[in-house]
Amino acid sequence: MLNTALFMQQIREHPIVATISIAAGTILASEVIWKAVKFFHSQLSGKRPLRVHEVLSFNELGDICAAQHLRKSMPGSPELTKSPEPIVLQCRNMYCSLRNVGKIVEQIDRAVYSLDVAIYTFSSLILADAFKRALQRGVSVRIISDREMVFSSGSQINVLACLGVPVRMPITSKMMHNKYCVIDGVERVEEIRRLKQRKWIRPYCSVVVSGSVNWTRQGFGGNWENCILSEDKELARMFQADFTRMWKAFEKSENNLKQE
Ligand SMILES: [Zn+2]
Repeated sequence: MLNTALFMQQIREHPIVATISIAAGTILASEVIWKAVKFFHSQLSGKRPLRVHEVLSFNELGDICAAQHLRKSMPGSPELTKSPEPIVLQCRNMYCSLRNVGKIVEQIDRAVYSLDVAIYTFSSLILADAFKRALQRGVSVRIISDREMVFSSGSQINVLACLGVPVRMPITSKMMHNKYCVIDGVERVEEIRRLKQRKWIRPYCSVVVSGSVNWTRQGFGGNWENCILSEDKELARMFQADFTRMWKAFEKSENNLKQE
């Protein structure tokens, strides 16, 4: 109360200084508010400080560090005790198969709302585990795959289907030869928001995982393959639109994998 009276007295005695001080304070406050608005807007629109835009190459140099990783993952290894996960991601071999698969897993682990996958062959246990974690977080997972390859040895699509993941496979002699995954595509996130009648959505970021590589041991560790990870919004929008079109096209029950 005393401070307020003193403040008013100062204004009366020094009107110019007071006006300048109030103006400076107002500008400062506006700046703070504007930065706060920009921060929350960027969070809600899905921007993150770490931008993903990368090509992963799988080639003959992918396993030169495999023995080293195996040694470090042995029980009792000092590196394992410190932090098992980042060891592979920090591998200096830019073609390291384990590191590259880890980078795909990293993106799947960031999924907030949806994972839409169109894949020819999926037998990677590491990726399957990432999808299981996503299901536990409540992420919607949908898979479109090739009818023959769904039932191939080691296919993880059956495993995920048993966990409630809807799988569609076109009845055709042609191959479903896509290898991509759309993580939190805007169109799908909006659909989920409408279905769940939510007014607000949590921060998310659309990411596309796509390339020549099938999600198999051979693909990640034996062939010359590529995989692009990208946060490009237009790319994500187009891949999501492609998935949505196929999902509707294969809507008939005969295209659906029967869950037992
Ligand atoms: Zn490595």
